[in-house]
Amino acid sequence: MLKPESFVAGAWIAPGATATPVIGPVTDTEIALVGGAALDTDAMLAHARKVGGPALRAMTFHDRAKILKKLALYIDSRKEELYAINGLTGATRRDGAVDIEGGIGTMFVYAAKGRREMPDAQVYVDGDIEQLGRSGAFLGQHIATPLQGVAVHINAFNFPVWGMLEKLAPTLLAGVPAIVKPATQTCYLTEACFRMIVDSGLLPDGAVQLIIGRTGDLLDKMGPQDVVSFTGSADTAQMLRTTPALIRNSTRFLAEQDSLNAAILGPDADADSPEFALFLKEAVAEITTKAGQKCTAMRRLLVPAHLADTVAAALSDRLGQITVGHPDADGVRMGALASLAQKSDVLAKIAQIGTEAKMICGSLDGFAPVDADADAAFIPPTLFQCDDPDAAQIIHSVEAFGPVSTILPYHDVAHAAELANRGEGSLVASVFTHDPAVARDITLSSAAWHGRLYINNRDTGRDATGHGSPMPHMIHGGPGRAGGGEELGGVRGVMHYMQRTAIQGTPEILSAITGQWIKGAPISENPTHPFQRTFTEIAIGETIHTAPRTVSMEDIEHFAHFTGDTFYAHMDEEAAKRNPFFPGRVAHGYLLLSFAAGLFVEPNEGPVLANTGLNGLSFQKPVSAGDSIKVILTCKRKTKRTDTYGEVAWNVILTNQDDEQVAEYELLTMVAYTR
Ligand code: NDP
Repeated sequence: MLKPESFVAGAWIAPGATATPVIGPVTDTEIALVGGAALDTDAMLAHARKVGGPALRAMTFHDRAKILKKLALYIDSRKEELYAINGLTGATRRDGAVDIEGGIGTMFVYAAKGRREMPDAQVYVDGDIEQLGRSGAFLGQHIATPLQGVAVHINAFNFPVWGMLEKLAPTLLAGVPAIVKPATQTCYLTEACFRMIVDSGLLPDGAVQLIIGRTGDLLDKMGPQDVVSFTGSADTAQMLRTTPALIRNSTRFLAEQDSLNAAILGPDADADSPEFALFLKEAVAEITTKAGQKCTAMRRLLVPAHLADTVAAALSDRLGQITVGHPDADGVRMGALASLAQKSDVLAKIAQIGTEAKMICGSLDGFAPVDADADAAFIPPTLFQCDDPDAAQIIHSVEAFGPVSTILPYHDVAHAAELANRGEGSLVASVFTHDPAVARDITLSSAAWHGRLYINNRDTGRDATGHGSPMPHMIHGGPGRAGGGEELGGVRGVMHYMQRTAIQGTPEILSAITGQWIKGAPISENPTHPFQRTFTEIAIGETIHTAPRTVSMEDIEHFAHFTGDTFYAHMDEEAAKRNPFFPGRVAHGYLLLSFAAGLFVEPNEGPVLANTGLNGLSFQKPVSAGDSIKVILTCKRKTKRTDTYGEVAWNVILTNQDDEQVAEYELLTMVAYTR
């Protein structure tokens, strides 16, 4: 008997006297004892807000990203312990991989994105500087900083590991402590993974806490700096989002809930096309993986009317070959639902769907799961076919959260999109088409109804990630019935746990806040050339002014013939004059860039290792033969990249003999920490 424990203010709390048993879906016996101990929610909140939060906020985004990477490696090294109890949830090892490896992978992606796309600082700079006055003395900059409260994560039963890690990764990267509340039915698996996080000793005290059982009065104590992030049913979401404290304090509430996701087989497909085969393959995977208990699973299969019977026959044939049974038994492809309650819920929904569509596969008559009792929480893959999808109501509104899907015929692309949208908002819709025009038409008429559009065809090869797989890089969430929330999506997912603030002030003030040099902020000069100074030595705002160099007609001619760029604006005086941009023959922009480098580089070996890129280049004024250019190079931003070198971004401004700006860009260099 498993006895998962809560983790409250740094202490493990065992199940109490009134703990309730969890009945295993496969064996129909008690497998865990849960809850029943009074949890001190005041202590939890204080521990998170006063201990965990400040400790996390004292770190930079990179510090936290590095912890995420170490955590992912640590859990990965002990993942077999998770697989060992995964079967108790009814899931096969393959299902477990989606949950366990998927969760670890999400942490790795956030660790990498945190280091690549966020600064090694405590303030995240969002977008560009806005010039608010004429002179440039008063500017605006959007920034984001971590919320100073706690994130409460309420998770669904179907992904006990991924569900926790996909919410924890962006929350911790943001710098916000979390209280995790897993669904009771599978909480022992979440607890095992959570325990590893605590065992790792990588997170500061108070960064994470765990509630096994119910949340008690926790949500009544939510404040303006807290976030509740929920995954589960629409009914629970509605109840929780209307908690008075949440409304009173405008507490952020993110919800991922029911979804009647559609998959569309394009009108260009026929029974022999690769798209038809891909559609079948993915439909089988969506119906059977996790026994269909996936918020992203394909619930409605929209197919061209003339192919409906062909799809029905092919799909029921494939589904009929799926071996259902004890998740640990040899050859079993589909395990159990999470509980008997879930089974009876799905059977009730199947009965409802059956009033609008005929069942073509999945009867319980004679159904015998391998190595398990038919009375346990097993349901065979179940497929319906509906002849009148326009008149249907239940099929577009009732989610059977199990291995259940319905084939719906459509007559043209507009009709397919209209039917997909009848789900009233979903997490994902997929289109299997090789015709870009079909993909575009469906996108224009349907994208607003779905959080994600997954378009697959013969050209995606093995790269396609699957209709039902939320990727940490891409947003996961959807409008309407899907909850109106949004998770993941790279840095976008981190922003849910941060406050965006518009900062207005002088360049010097904004520079001090963001840690980046902003045009107009003070500069400094150093007798040693910056290319001879290490990453650590170079100061933000450090500037050099170069000597001038006059551009001659010979330079322009030489550059043209040397590079082959003999565009008329550089070669033909009369033709160049007819061009509205030029006074006559002008220097190549790339010649100016090359001269600029010649003016500012320090040629000797030193800490500057490489020029790795250039951002935001603009040529602002033509340079003619006889003009003289010079460069102002200013250190704008520094970002540690590895243990030995970091990236230094320089603002580069080219001016002419009249001090008019002719070009500007951001130059990226890699610079060693030591000489
Ligand atoms: P529930 O809404 O019943 O539960 C979801 C979570 O909310 C669980 O952790 C549950 O805890 C908790 N919860 C329930 N009541 C309260 C409360 N009063 N206060 C605090 N927490 C509460 O959903 P299920 O777990 O039954 O999930 C089934 C449904 O969720 C599916 O039918 C599907 O529609 C949807 N779902 C959506 C997903 C998505 O990403 N969009 C993913 C997975 C499921 P406890 O278990 O202790 O009751």
